Amino acid sequence: MNLNVGSGNEALEHEELPDQIYQAIVRSLYEDAKSLFLGIVCMVIAPLVLYWKIDDPLQLIFCAMFMFLGIARLLLAQYFNASTDDQTSVADLQRWERHYLVISCAYVGLIGCWFMACVISTNDQFAHMLSLCLSLSFMIGIIGRNFGSGIVVNGQVALISFLITAALIYTASYYHILLAAFLLPFFMSMRIMAMRIRNILVSSEINSLQNETIAKRFNIALDNMMHGIAMFDADGKIVVANERFGELAGLSDWDFVGSDLSLLDASLDKGSFGKKLAMHIKSYMKTKRSGRFTFQNREKRTIEADFNSMVEGGVVVLADISERVESEKVIRDLANFDPLTNLPNRRYFVGQLREMLGEGEPANPCAMFFIDLDKFKQVNDTLGHSFGDKLLNIAARRLDQLVDQDGAICRFGGDEFVILLPGMSQREEISAFAERVIEEMGRPSVISGNTISVGASVGIATAPADGNTAEELLKFADSALYDAKGTGCGTFSYYTEQLGESLKQRRRLETDLRTAIENGEIDLHFQPLVNLQLGKITTCEALARWTHPELGPISPGVFITLAEEIGYITQLGEFVLKRAMEECARWPRSVRVAVNVSSVQFERTDICSLVTDLLKETGLPAERLEVEVTETVMLNNIQDATTTLHKLAALGVRISLDDFGTGFSSLSYLHNMPFDKVKIDRSFIKHGLAEERSLVLLKGIVDLIKRLGLSVVLEGIETEDQMRVLSKNVEVNELQGFLFSRPLPAKDIKTLLDASNANGLGRKQSAVA
Ligand code: C2E
Ligand code: CA
Ligand code: CA
Repeated sequence: MNLNVGSGNEALEHEELPDQIYQAIVRSLYEDAKSLFLGIVCMVIAPLVLYWKIDDPLQLIFCAMFMFLGIARLLLAQYFNASTDDQTSVADLQRWERHYLVISCAYVGLIGCWFMACVISTNDQFAHMLSLCLSLSFMIGIIGRNFGSGIVVNGQVALISFLITAALIYTASYYHILLAAFLLPFFMSMRIMAMRIRNILVSSEINSLQNETIAKRFNIALDNMMHGIAMFDADGKIVVANERFGELAGLSDWDFVGSDLSLLDASLDKGSFGKKLAMHIKSYMKTKRSGRFTFQNREKRTIEADFNSMVEGGVVVLADISERVESEKVIRDLANFDPLTNLPNRRYFVGQLREMLGEGEPANPCAMFFIDLDKFKQVNDTLGHSFGDKLLNIAARRLDQLVDQDGAICRFGGDEFVILLPGMSQREEISAFAERVIEEMGRPSVISGNTISVGASVGIATAPADGNTAEELLKFADSALYDAKGTGCGTFSYYTEQLGESLKQRRRLETDLRTAIENGEIDLHFQPLVNLQLGKITTCEALARWTHPELGPISPGVFITLAEEIGYITQLGEFVLKRAMEECARWPRSVRVAVNVSSVQFERTDICSLVTDLLKETGLPAERLEVEVTETVMLNNIQDATTTLHKLAALGVRISLDDFGTGFSSLSYLHNMPFDKVKIDRSFIKHGLAEERSLVLLKGIVDLIKRLGLSVVLEGIETEDQMRVLSKNVEVNELQGFLFSRPLPAKDIKTLLDASNANGLGRKQSAVA
């Protein structure tokens, strides 16, 4: 079907026309039975009138023929209407058009003949006039009834024009011929008019067909849309809508085009979605605004309604966004909740905090509890992460139960939880809560058949006494927790300004230490270990020194621990090891360097490859390096520690056990580990030499160690008196202490070593106090 038919004046043959239009044209031929009937009645009566006037029996014959043909035409029209419908084929329609052509031409021919008979057989003026008038008016009827079919119009007009003209010419009367001449343009214009009307009909049919097609396609598009759509006119009447709109809006009856907004009131969602939707649409239409709103419909689906205002009325698009909302919720939950414990995470909690504290200063009164599980790390390391996860879950559940609806809780990270209780300001009340937390956390739990109890420490900060903002409270409660941890496990501490001050100092020291380590501002001093039998310095222990630009020298006891806590010990340890080895490479070959390796550094780095690299880099023979470790390296993971120590020993590096006597002093370590040397802590010298029993203990230990084939060092010899007692009672391999030398800067130790290499070392001559 070709729909791109223009509305030009050229006549279109039915082959070029769309089937529907051709059908409409053929139908139009048979349609106007009333005017046909009137015409037939006139044509039957007219000859009768003439017969009465001119008494010509020919008129009776014409009357009978008009009647016969007229009835045939009416019957044919009736038969057509009965036997055709929308489905009738084009071929059948063509047949019907031909039938019509034949019978209408016969009828027109009869009229022409009648006119001829009237003009030729009589001179009666009335007869002439009547027959001409009826013939011409019949011609006009041709146009009115048959304009649709070009062939029918052409056939009839040509036939009747020919017969009328022929009859007029046949009279050979001058005036009649003149009349014929005047009639010719009339005949032609009849035909042109018929064609024009036909074209108007055709193009309007084509337009309506086009519109119908567009409308059909539009409906298909609408009905296949995921979204519900409805268009309202200025009065709020629905002019276009699809089924989906009804579905989403909960309308029971799909046929709502033409209804007004009150229909939505009466939707299945009565009183809820429908009513609100109608209300919103009305208000948007009134203000000529566009907007979006979301609702839950009866099926608990989330529907988003988009209203777009138009010049007249507007369009509403309904979309079921339940899935999107659901996945957004999942994403939000993922972003806001800790997946392990299902508690709010830190980010979300801080948002909640801000709300609870309020906008003003002072903040709404509340108490914050910063909770840290005490032995979680050990449990996690020894029993595995999945065990640790279960433990965290139990802790989270117990804490969550302590918090009422008004409170907030979060997993702050790792084994840290934070609870905020609004309205709590009385000390007794706060302390009682902290005690409950500690009690709950200390309650043993059974996980995979293991009974375990970890305990917790709690730091407390309150608003508005300590701070007004979320950040302040978190910081202060954390500080208080740090204090609680320092006091011992299973306790709680309140934040105090003093605590704040000391923490501030600590933070400052932390930052300064970071900078110092990064800038290589840590210095090394070396303290000799002497072998009195040989009268020689055998080893020098490298000891880190940090002089703070304002606070002066900071004790290694302080800054080494700090470096461990802030995760900078690896960097510092590497630096010390490298510098110490470089220095040792300059010393006499008989002197070794001893370097302290923190257990944190030992755990976190691959100390073996570091040592291997540095040996290569500095060119120091492995046997001139001693690594000093304490028993703590064996605490966390004894298997890993054993492997590492054996690997180090295999490199040829010597290993000393430092600070023996301060920790577990387990003799099994001495037996199983590849130690070369044991350094007995200076506390033995400080407290033990005065008492006989301690001296016996020291002697026993030294003997035992020596029997295990290890060399023994006594640390912390400060005085001649101590030396006297020692020399009478114990025989050790090396001694270290201020009596021989304090730790010295690199260049001084070099001088000392060079001198002692040349002269040997007498105790007195070397004491550099
Ligand atoms: P340590 O390994 O036991 O080092 C010996 C400590 O005893 C040094 O303290 C030294 O100055 C001190 N000392 C030596 N003889 C005497 C004495 O006769 N009397 C007294 N009262 N003290 C004596 P220092 O240098 O303050 O170092 C303290 C601790 O800091 C060291 O104990 C060691 O554990 C740690 N440390 C120092 N430097 C480093 C380092 O570079 N790395 C690591 N990981 N730890 C280090
Ligand atoms: Ca040491
Ligand atoms: Ca020591």
